[in-house]
Amino acid sequence: MNLHEYQAKDIFKDYDIPVPEGIIASTPDEAYEAAKKLGDGITVVKAQVHAGGRGKAGGVKLAKTPDEAKSHAASMLGNQLVTHQTTVEGLPINLVYIEKGSAIDKEFYLSMVIDRSAERLVIMASAAGGMDIEEVAETSPEKICTVSVDPAVGISGYHIRKVGRILDLSSEQTKELGMLLKNLYKLFDECDASLLEINPLILTDTGAIVALDAKINIEDNALYRQPNLVDLRDVTQEDESELEAAKHDLNYVTLDGNIACMVNGAGLAMATMDLIQLKGGRPANFLDVGGGATAERVAEAFKIILNNSNVEAVLVNIFGGIVRCDLIAEGIISAVKEVGVSIPVVVRLEGTNVEKGRELLAESGLSIAAATDLTVAAEQAIELAKGSA
Ligand code: GDP
Ligand code: MN
Repeated sequence: MNLHEYQAKDIFKDYDIPVPEGIIASTPDEAYEAAKKLGDGITVVKAQVHAGGRGKAGGVKLAKTPDEAKSHAASMLGNQLVTHQTTVEGLPINLVYIEKGSAIDKEFYLSMVIDRSAERLVIMASAAGGMDIEEVAETSPEKICTVSVDPAVGISGYHIRKVGRILDLSSEQTKELGMLLKNLYKLFDECDASLLEINPLILTDTGAIVALDAKINIEDNALYRQPNLVDLRDVTQEDESELEAAKHDLNYVTLDGNIACMVNGAGLAMATMDLIQLKGGRPANFLDVGGGATAERVAEAFKIILNNSNVEAVLVNIFGGIVRCDLIAEGIISAVKEVGVSIPVVVRLEGTNVEKGRELLAESGLSIAAATDLTVAAEQAIELAKGSA
């Protein structure tokens, strides 16, 4: 689960991590009042969306006066912000965060993330912070230092010195950094974060270290024990189909291709997507209907995958192990009838009662193409998608 920048900064404050003073606003008038309250000088108007790259996309603007803050807020609120991290539709800007402007001397990059292969948290830091850390990683990876943390020991002098060195900090600033790293580590641990990123972490003109941006991702599997964080969820920033799927316990992820997939088992779903890609097509989604796929779940799944307007064909790939193929066939038939599918559907069934399942599909009178082989099924779906486009 993602948090907004202002929510992340509120949490930062609880952990004594320095952030600029700021006030949230949902209308241009509130933005005016907020800027006025923050006092004379520059304020920064920041669109609150679950995506980075806001600065380059016009979602971060400096204002010299409360009037200017108001007009920036008016130009953002109610609109969609499209950044290189969003879809082409972008994300709705329902809130702007008004911050006291900071005088920036240097911009650093600092993050903590779980490295699954090392089974440890790693700290990443770079003096080349600001907006384009992906490019730094691509072109000059030596400018980024990575150091892992032993969970039995936590942050130690070694980590602090290593990060302090790459950021070229004075010994006084390195002490400050040490506090910051320890506090961030505590936050990461206590909030069950999966990612914590500050880009930029700045040195101000007076030499203070301040988190100018803040991104926190919470591990979804730990949300059951983080009720206070769950309250911060903003579903307006999330994919509608994914939310709907979650309600029905379906594992679904929207992708940008045109061939919808309905598969039982996550591994088989991955393999199916790979095969579509290998044969020159592009999957429109990942969907695992689960081992206990019932007719109702199959119907719900159909509704969700067809809700994507890019979809031009459906590929159903079910291996009947625990479930029986005839039951799945019945589910597919009733779903196609109920939902009124107008695009080609290719079904590959294999496993228990497969003959009966194929028979049911053949006798259904619906235009469902039955394939016995997965490779053929993928090719067929790709071909049919071209025809229906
Ligand atoms: P992002 O583009 O979504 O990562 O948004 P950020 O919060 O990181 O802001 C983008 C950029 O705006 C930063 O890298 C800064 O260069 C600039 N910026 C943000 N706040 C301030 C500020 O208070 N003063 C100044 N001068 N620049 C700022
Ligand atoms: Mn940033």
